[in-house]
Amino acid sequence: MKVTVWNEFRHEQHNEKVKEIYPDGIHGTIQQFLQDAGIEVKTATLDEPEHGLTEEVLENTDVLVWWGHLAHDEVSDEVVHKVKKRVHDGMGLVALHSAHYSKIFRELMGTDCGLKWREADDKELLWVVEPNHPIAEGISEVIELENEEMYGERFEIPQPEELIFISWFSGGEVFRSGCTYKRGKGRIFYFRPGHETFPTYHHKEIQKVIINGVKWAATSEAKAQELV
Ligand code: ZN
Repeated sequence: MKVTVWNEFRHEQHNEKVKEIYPDGIHGTIQQFLQDAGIEVKTATLDEPEHGLTEEVLENTDVLVWWGHLAHDEVSDEVVHKVKKRVHDGMGLVALHSAHYSKIFRELMGTDCGLKWREADDKELLWVVEPNHPIAEGISEVIELENEEMYGERFEIPQPEELIFISWFSGGEVFRSGCTYKRGKGRIFYFRPGHETFPTYHHKEIQKVIINGVKWAATSEAKAQELV
């Protein structure tokens, strides 16, 4: 299985607090824990030519992990088109946190993907609502994050095909935090946590969910049919 972790990589270069939490970039941290799980991982960032997502890179990617926030508009439509085509051909996509508003996620969902948000220090409880799903394997009933940005409903997404996590925030809001979709032969997993000013991607259970999500998304629907 070959994974490419794509990161916008802007906050880490301009914000000291974020740089301190993710000295190798958010993509570097995600790459490291996926590699520790025995997965082959490369990274790509916005400022590389073609955002690091050349035809060759995409052809050699089974799952693309996406983190973006400040610069969704700077992602070229041409690259978005190529990524979308690869998803339809069977590449998995794991969209993290503010990737809800990325061009590629909105394009694949076909809806606005807006939500309610508050950048504060809410506590977040992520409840597992589908404990038998492969993405929830080895995860406890609830993951507690001491501080996270709040994302609240309504999240303008199509009805998820599978809803695996629901979040509660200390402000009282709830959110569909772990959603799966299929587009063409490709599998898509959206996972909410991961605001850049909190050490969320160093949290072991969050890492485990992303590892599980990558493994789940790596099986294209074409392969899944063959396995049956
Ligand atoms: Zn955020």
